[in-house]
Amino acid sequence: MSRTLIIGAGGVGQVVAQKCAAMPAVFTEIMLASRTLSKCDAIAADVKRRQGVDIATASVDADNTPELVRLIKDFKPELLIHVALPYQDLTIMDACLETGVHYLDTANYEPKDKAAFEYSWQWAYHDRYKAAGITAILGCGFDPGVSGIFTAYAAKHYFDAIHYLDIVDCNAGDHGHAFATNFNPEINIREITQKGRFWENGAWHETEPLAIHKPIDYPQVGPKESYLLYHEELESLVKNFPTLRRARFWMTFSLNYIKHLEVLQNVGMTRIDPVRYQGMDIVPLQFLKAVLPEPSSLGVNYHGQTSIGCQLKGIKDGRDKTLFIYNNCDHAETYREIGAQAVSYTTGVPAMIGAQMLLKGLWKKPGVFNVETFDPDPFMAELNRRGLPWHILEDIPLPHEYND
Ligand code: NDP
Repeated sequence: MSRTLIIGAGGVGQVVAQKCAAMPAVFTEIMLASRTLSKCDAIAADVKRRQGVDIATASVDADNTPELVRLIKDFKPELLIHVALPYQDLTIMDACLETGVHYLDTANYEPKDKAAFEYSWQWAYHDRYKAAGITAILGCGFDPGVSGIFTAYAAKHYFDAIHYLDIVDCNAGDHGHAFATNFNPEINIREITQKGRFWENGAWHETEPLAIHKPIDYPQVGPKESYLLYHEELESLVKNFPTLRRARFWMTFSLNYIKHLEVLQNVGMTRIDPVRYQGMDIVPLQFLKAVLPEPSSLGVNYHGQTSIGCQLKGIKDGRDKTLFIYNNCDHAETYREIGAQAVSYTTGVPAMIGAQMLLKGLWKKPGVFNVETFDPDPFMAELNRRGLPWHILEDIPLPHEYND
């Protein structure tokens, strides 16, 4: 018997609800709560139709800790899966601390008024979670999430020391819209318009936004222009794998996407500071989000694949070793399975698996932890069973330059 509370009824929340409901032996009672009740009810109706399972729904403002605490006390979950927005990480962590409930999320905290995401705010909860005897699992989507688990799996089974890590994230799908983002537009655009950053020789190096790019060859997709971005898992991975000499993150964007983004930036639509309009304060990026398609609506005619993985180089038994570990996921297939596009799917399935790891007691230790600090093996086995099979290519030439 377990009770799981999911917060957030967007593209990812929909996947988490469907995939948890599909495993009633582990997730016996589920509640989906979000700001807009009608979105929770629509997902619950679809869960009933596809899985034959009833899930409870509720409306909650997750920016409001006392309101969350009331909901938690009422439903009495063992675990809360947070797939609303990173702005709510701390209010939700506070509510879990106050009620003694385990916590899991897929994105690290960032303040609304500053596009700066880092783990320090959430790591600061470690001692309090430890004292309360509850677990927080941070960043359990695909990237962050599976990217860290792939790295941990490679470190455990294939390397004595990993020296180079390139996380390569390709979405070669086409949703048919002139411009749309695959996850929450506000969070997505804040991430991409930031300066790039990577780790090399014990220090962070900063680049202008999207300044470094090159074609990378993705399995079953082919070469795609890939841009160096700062991505949050780099922060925890360089801390947890101190042998890393360099760690970088690459993501593909089409020229069409970049062109739209440039125009939106040039006209001021990606600003996150309020502007006065007809007597009201309006944040341009929040307004832009309101006119763009919702990530959960993109699946209908989406076709093509995502391909995300870790390219690693290091040493095993005194010899150089390379490894590429990756998953490809097909938008049309995930839409057929649960009505979701592949970016939501590749985020929601790992969140469900992380929740399962916790409820089964496999990933339960008091404190606040990033995913790569847990045993990757049971998680990797579940990825293969729950819709995200992975593949390993060993000792192949990797498309990156190395100094050793
Ligand atoms: P959506 O915009 O589709 O959904 C966000 C949901 O959160 C909406 O239902 C929204 O409600 C709800 N929400 C927002 N604010 C509040 C609040 N104050 N209280 C309660 N609910 C709220 O985004 P996605 O589903 O695409 O993304 C969800 C999360 O997943 C994001 O944090 C994103 O960064 C993360 N993510 C992580 C990835 C990874 O690989 N690790 C990849 C992709 C996404 P409403 O509809 O009323 O606005």
